[in-house]
Amino acid sequence: MTRRILIGNWKMHGDGASLSAMAAIAAQAAAARAGEVALCVPATLIHRAAARFPALPIGGQDCHHATHGAHTGEVSAAMLREAGARLVILGHSERRAAGDDDALVAAKVRAAQAAGLRVVLCVGETIEARQAGQATAVVEAQLHRSLDGAARTDLVIAYEPVWAIGSGATPPPQDIAVMARHIATHVGDAPVLYGGSVTPERCAPLIAEGGVDGLLVGGASLSPVPFGAMIASLDRAAQETVARPAGSAIRDRRRA
Ligand code: PEP
Repeated sequence: MTRRILIGNWKMHGDGASLSAMAAIAAQAAAARAGEVALCVPATLIHRAAARFPALPIGGQDCHHATHGAHTGEVSAAMLREAGARLVILGHSERRAAGDDDALVAAKVRAAQAAGLRVVLCVGETIEARQAGQATAVVEAQLHRSLDGAARTDLVIAYEPVWAIGSGATPPPQDIAVMARHIATHVGDAPVLYGGSVTPERCAPLIAEGGVDGLLVGGASLSPVPFGAMIASLDRAAQETVARPAGSAIRDRRRA
């Protein structure tokens, strides 16, 4: 069965009352054979979520690059790990817009890996870069610089065009496939996900034609109804490939 990964990014949403929605998602994830489902939640929810849903990998959405120190308001990778996080999103375009450049993202990646967290590194071009035909060059530079000194193991890359996030627009799946193959040439065996305005209806074509290993989902991951439909959709996609050897969708495509 081809490995599929579905990661929800709750951004700055969710409180104690959201644990019931998380319980429904955890149950759907447990029933699926699609591969891995994970939720990246606000730091305030990590400990409770990880303790209550041990089978559902819980992640953070950012971390500081230092292990400790005078960094008011910040959370280190080791603190996330101790709270129960198993993964962390780094280099999200909303963090990059708030000032994280590639060098800082790379320092965070190294810190997260040293703390034993799986890194979900986000890369993606702006609409201006895309219109100028620079999308591949931008993504390649982000990958190169944001992974400076980083291990290629326990790494996931999320291709998230900035203009697609929360906009309702997505690139044609064929464009995603080209970019995903390009990314794969730089990151070894790391799975490549697509993120940006994914809906339950778009899941199947994005996976089948976009040739990615899974999806990173923002808004639609907040509720168990659309997110559950996405888990089911990935599960079906995985069943369809059940006769093929286990591995990554991208590696499978390379073999094809
Ligand atoms: C995201 O912010 O990582 C994301 C994919 O958001 P959305 O699905 O809401 O576009």
